[in-house]
Amino acid sequence: MKLDVNMLRYLCKDDFRVLTAVEMGMRNHEIVPCELVDRIASLKHGGTYKVLKNLLRHKLLHHDSSKYDGFRLTYLGYDFLAIKTLVNRGVFVSVGRQIGVGKESDIFEVATEDGTVMAMKLHRLGRVSFRAVKSKRDYLKHRSSYSWLYLSRLAALKEFAFMKALEEHGFPVPSAVDCNRHCVIMSLVQGYPLVQVKQLQNPEVVFETIIGLVVRLAEHGLIHCDFNEFNIMIDDDEKVTMIDFPQMVSVSHHNAQMYFDRDVECVFKFFRKRFNMNFRECRDDIDGTEVDTDESVRLCFSSIAKDAVFLDKELAASGFTRKDQEDIEKFIEGSLDKDASSGDEGAEDGTDVSVLNEANIEGVDSLHLVDQDQTSNLKQEEDNLRNCEAGPSSKPECEDVSDKEGDNDTEKDNDAELVKRLNKQRRRAMSAARGRRKTLSSRNTYKDKGGRSSTSCKIQHQLSSW
Ligand code: ADP
Ligand code: MG
Repeated sequence: MKLDVNMLRYLCKDDFRVLTAVEMGMRNHEIVPCELVDRIASLKHGGTYKVLKNLLRHKLLHHDSSKYDGFRLTYLGYDFLAIKTLVNRGVFVSVGRQIGVGKESDIFEVATEDGTVMAMKLHRLGRVSFRAVKSKRDYLKHRSSYSWLYLSRLAALKEFAFMKALEEHGFPVPSAVDCNRHCVIMSLVQGYPLVQVKQLQNPEVVFETIIGLVVRLAEHGLIHCDFNEFNIMIDDDEKVTMIDFPQMVSVSHHNAQMYFDRDVECVFKFFRKRFNMNFRECRDDIDGTEVDTDESVRLCFSSIAKDAVFLDKELAASGFTRKDQEDIEKFIEGSLDKDASSGDEGAEDGTDVSVLNEANIEGVDSLHLVDQDQTSNLKQEEDNLRNCEAGPSSKPECEDVSDKEGDNDTEKDNDAELVKRLNKQRRRAMSAARGRRKTLSSRNTYKDKGGRSSTSCKIQHQLSSW
């Protein structure tokens, strides 16, 4: 989706006030009636309808008159609200070019006042394979009240919380800078997705590092669930950084074993194909143990000493509540089924009315339908709008987070034994990786599809003039 931030400069205070009013109205309405927008915005000199027309022309709103005359935000409108809030917070001052297109996100360069370039990820759930996903995600039909914008906000919040927690635990991830609505700001990774890398100086070392990460994640109670060559970045020194965390699950998830195995398999498969690493050819382990089949080098999920409460303890601190976690997990359940998202066309702007249409869940602050006819909330909405200068920050209500089920207590009892087995498995995997040594003297040949080059980054749109 095109993000023409240049247009932001031509939007005035009233435009943002009305845009914010629509966002607030969407707490209770899938389509916000014009009168409600007018009352929430309460522009000093009137003229809400003219402003609405302008916002509609710029595709920041969608007009719907099927039941009554009203509006809802588009992703572009949501983008602008998030960007404006973050600029007002002083997080960045300009937006540059697009550096990545994910399955359900767009990534742009942004820059701070002092010229530091960072990455801005705008989540766009529902964009891809809308029909296929919708048909598979039962909960959307039965109890939803989820909108794609709401789910995108949750995905961003989850990604931010995980990135922060992982960073604090020394994982090689981008540095989490800030988060607003569906937008996450993080440090720019100096590298390329592994999928674009044709040759490595030390493929076995990179393989070891990557497999080691899957294991370490599990030890911290986490499974990435999309751990593949698209979500592993590598730089010129072959330093590895992992990205993309909205789909991560706890090791206590009922499908944990399957997701873990799939992550491991992805890594093995990629290195086998791309770098001709033949794991079957491996003969001797470090300690002399014979390892001769593919199966023997697979990491065994059940033997990893896992800390299943990591999620709850660490993530609650970042404002990502147990309830948020449950909501987003219902969504990713569908998307983790890879078949569901292949080769289908998405809804144009990802905010399909049939999804926004659904029933009630309470306790969510933004874009979450509670009741179709709650004009009693209007007073509060008006107050909120008065209180918010740059649009409401979508701060979630915190909930108590109790400990997770102690699924892994018994496993912990056998720590010493497990660690021993784990180490052995690791050694086997490493050894397998070395099975076919291939020293590459040639320089890395990276294929820079995205034309990434942070030094040549030209930030096109200064936004600080707002
Ligand atoms: P999605 O969740 O949609 O798959 P990703 O987080 O995987 O999105 O990002 C998509 C692409 O954007 C990545 O493959 C990468 O090329 C680029 N990208 C994402 N985050 C960063 C970052 N912090 N620094 C540099 N490039 C990034
Ligand atoms: Mg990705």
